[in-house]
Amino acid sequence: MEPVYQALQQYFGYTQFRPGQLEMITALMSGRDAVGIMPTGAGKSLCFQIPALLFEGITLVVSPLISLMNDQVRGLLQAGAAAAYLNSSLTERQYFKALSNARQGRYKIIYVSPERLETESFQSFAQAANISMVAVDEAHCTSQWGQDFRPSYLQIASFIDHLPKRPVVSAFTATATNLVKQDIIRILDLQDPVETVTGFNRSNLYYEVQHPADKDGALLTLVRRYEGKSGIIYCSTRKKVEEVCELLRDNGILATRYHAGLPEGERSRNQDDFLFDRQPVMVATNAFGMGIDKSNVNYVIHYNMPKDMESYYQEAGRAGRDGQPADCILLYHGQDVVTNQFLLEQSQENASLDEPTRLELQEKDRERLKQMTFYCHTKDCLRKYILRYFGEEHPGFCGNCYNCIGDFERVEMTKQAQMILSCVRRTGERYGIGTVIDILRGAKTERLLRLGLDRQSTYGLLPELPQPQLRDMIHHLIEREYLMQSDGKYPVLSLGANAKKVLLQQEEVWLRVDKKPVRSTPVKTERESANPELFRRLRELRSEIAKRQSVPAYVVFTDASLHEMVRILPQTEQDFLRVPGVGQKKWERYGRQFLDLLREYTSTEAVFDPADRP
Ligand code: ADP
Ligand code: MG
Repeated sequence: MEPVYQALQQYFGYTQFRPGQLEMITALMSGRDAVGIMPTGAGKSLCFQIPALLFEGITLVVSPLISLMNDQVRGLLQAGAAAAYLNSSLTERQYFKALSNARQGRYKIIYVSPERLETESFQSFAQAANISMVAVDEAHCTSQWGQDFRPSYLQIASFIDHLPKRPVVSAFTATATNLVKQDIIRILDLQDPVETVTGFNRSNLYYEVQHPADKDGALLTLVRRYEGKSGIIYCSTRKKVEEVCELLRDNGILATRYHAGLPEGERSRNQDDFLFDRQPVMVATNAFGMGIDKSNVNYVIHYNMPKDMESYYQEAGRAGRDGQPADCILLYHGQDVVTNQFLLEQSQENASLDEPTRLELQEKDRERLKQMTFYCHTKDCLRKYILRYFGEEHPGFCGNCYNCIGDFERVEMTKQAQMILSCVRRTGERYGIGTVIDILRGAKTERLLRLGLDRQSTYGLLPELPQPQLRDMIHHLIEREYLMQSDGKYPVLSLGANAKKVLLQQEEVWLRVDKKPVRSTPVKTERESANPELFRRLRELRSEIAKRQSVPAYVVFTDASLHEMVRILPQTEQDFLRVPGVGQKKWERYGRQFLDLLREYTSTEAVFDPADRP
């Protein structure tokens, strides 16, 4: 067997590469630089871990977050690979101990934060070490145009430059537009890199946007439906995290929380509770989760709309990493846009940059927020929308998002559309959505009266249409280019290219309207086990082992591996090694116990033939 396949099988227990992996690995093994843009859950880690295990020297993996490093190293150690991390979760003593181990060549893979590279102790180690590769994970942090810019990523190239021998350099991220990709290549100074961009489509994820009047109620309904399953609920602020966690607990739902305002100790305890399945539900801000490979997250609910599609794609993408069906649901309210605008204005993130650059970045942020808002209003296939945002074509009608399979009816709204368009035109194309809605509904606000807008001919033309519906409709008109919305801090509406056709009665406007006031999701996260009883017993065994070793259950075996055990009922070592996710080390560690259980089961139960089922 070729060494790369050998390593894939021995350490990770897989027999096949996923799209893009072999291409990346081959490039790196031949000594070329490489950049991989692959969606969350695609298996980027393997792309640098396998070469790292096969290279003669050490591989440094630059990674932005402690939780991420610890998670990956834990997995590698379980797989029998010599790995370590050097970060601030170590005491000074532990750090120097690890560094001295590293000097003796005890590790093949060392995870470091970018800040660590700049320290003297680390640089003196690096000068003397044989470094074969530097792999930069979450490489979008390099780019100012990416959403998690980290200035210390800018120093990586210079660190590499000062090494006695230039190693192979690789970079990986899930979220990179073309602009960001170019930045990564330039800033990390990659030499003629092989570029692998696999699609962004995550076909096992179901997408839905709800517009509930009562978010708390909608959330409770959803979480109850997913009872016993593992899920993440993202909120935009720490305060909201507290409130939502409280709400769930008050309603008898086990939940824990995570945000940057909690003391470090509590944060890591809560994170572990979630990873170890002691708490099924995690309520968190976006501080939670980058790169955490909890494979069995069955749903991700956004209590608030995030600030851009990049964030949404990444956060929602934490569901279903094991490839099983999982749900991504966003609870939208107009207030989310306002909150995000506020956070954007207040942001101190780029305070160190010069004024023109800062303003330009802010403008880009605003544009991203707008695209995110459109996602919440589009009636088209949500998957298509997401993929198009990242520059990928998709025919639409994916059959696995609410907009494709939800319960709608089509309603003709030509007359109302004409009224909206006239209102925008008659008021001189000077006002934003909120004001236009107020005029049409005949609101008696102080502002309207002051501006004399109550004397407009279109004032009060649509008093009966509820505000959210009117807003929905305006967004629809923007999407279809009947209206245009300007950029900038106070976007105003003007007539779009298609407005004339409606105003001149040449075109009808149809809108899809929900039949039910509150959308209900089909429950699709359940993967049928061929034999629930056996599956349960395997899970029990797994959780006993995990507890004994103080690792999360999925680190022992993933759900997908257990399902496969139930399906193929392995009876021998050889059978067992055929289960995806079972490598040599894991066989040695746990194989016996699982095999015993499986054997005992098949000998006591009459052997179960699926064809015999009624
Ligand atoms: P990413 O970093 O791209 O988000 P990870 O590297 O964390 O993804 O991998 C996600 C999951 O996919 C992990 O559980 C990993 O074990 C699994 N995986 C990776 N490569 C393969 C493969 N070739 N076959 C099966 N599963 C794989
Ligand atoms: Mg990753």
